[in-house]
Amino acid sequence: MHAWPNPAIPEVAGTPVPLKLYDTADQRVKEVDTTPDEKGEVGLYVCGITPYDSTHLGHAATYLTFDLVQRQLIANGHKVHYVQNITDVDDPLFERAERDNVDWRELGTSQIDLFRSDMEILSVIPPRDYIGAMESVDEVIEMVQKLLDEGSAYQLDQGDIYASIEATEQFGYESNLDRATMEEYFAERGGDPQREGKRDPLDALVWRGHRNGEPAWESPFGPGRPGWHVECSAIATNRLGASFAIQGGGSDLAFPHHEFSAAHAEAALGVDRMAGHYVHAGMIALDGVKMSKSLGNLVFVHKLTEDGYEPAAIRVAVFNGHYRDDRDFSYAALDEAAQRIARWRENLAAEVDEVRARETVDKLRAALADDLDTPTALRVVDEAAGDHAGIVAAALDGLLGVRL
Ligand SMILES: [Zn+2]
Repeated sequence: MHAWPNPAIPEVAGTPVPLKLYDTADQRVKEVDTTPDEKGEVGLYVCGITPYDSTHLGHAATYLTFDLVQRQLIANGHKVHYVQNITDVDDPLFERAERDNVDWRELGTSQIDLFRSDMEILSVIPPRDYIGAMESVDEVIEMVQKLLDEGSAYQLDQGDIYASIEATEQFGYESNLDRATMEEYFAERGGDPQREGKRDPLDALVWRGHRNGEPAWESPFGPGRPGWHVECSAIATNRLGASFAIQGGGSDLAFPHHEFSAAHAEAALGVDRMAGHYVHAGMIALDGVKMSKSLGNLVFVHKLTEDGYEPAAIRVAVFNGHYRDDRDFSYAALDEAAQRIARWRENLAAEVDEVRARETVDKLRAALADDLDTPTALRVVDEAAGDHAGIVAAALDGLLGVRL
């Protein structure tokens, strides 16, 4: 699937600072392992949208977080191989399409188009590989076959195949949750603990046998469609290798999605750890209320720009909080961000001081390398009055995607 156009990324002055990020698995901030893979690149995989109502600012904030990750790595001189999926075949999409009486393919296509346009408006660097679930069915079949062959997965009636949580010794390492919390999240977030015949209530679906009215693909184990977690395992590892640097997504994906994506890949490919870092972005609320379609409080990126807010202000409003915190968005915060940018433009245009500008860029790099400390980075720019405008503006654009 095609992604969206690449934004121009200016060269950033100053000295590279190795990127540190909080890793959910190790529960600490640690340096990203940027050892190049066989292609000389650093692998970044971020879970994409399920295209039904995913194009609001809350989701965009997650992709902005990983855009920052990619920008820091690029500014440090690394080549990044960024892969993202689109879950264009899954239950939530079918349910929404049926409720709204539209074809699920059309719903998916229209939502993916909206998402692409939001990402382009926000100057998010696109993934090099943007892969739909429907495009990756053969890869999933291959991985499910491996799991079956080695006894890591088993088939129940109706053609459904489940992967066992016993398949790897390290299951649970990614989310660090206790069993009770795992069961709670599994039930809430698309799992089926009640399904009869499963060896463990937590075992996850990797292949759903064909049901009437649902799309299906042929496979050696019967017609059906991919499970969600294994979709990401296959798409990620087929492009980035069995182990790669960073797996990212919203904090609601830490369990079960990322735990199982890792476990399936590790069982099928015989590695201890799929990603060196598991990185999770917090959720965004509007005026204190979680954004959701049913509450009617979704904020749409294209609507904000139609209302005259520039993309730089949207970024600054989002980056005013730390990516790991669940945080609030408001129109007041957006207005403040716009005023802040106006002040920067005035301050930076005033004088020309190259030495100070380079010091400012080094401070910016240091703040962002420290687990993407954007609140501090923005304060650094607040204090850059009199600095050389071109040098600071290039760094703001290159490191934060904020174009003055
Ligand atoms: Zn995923």
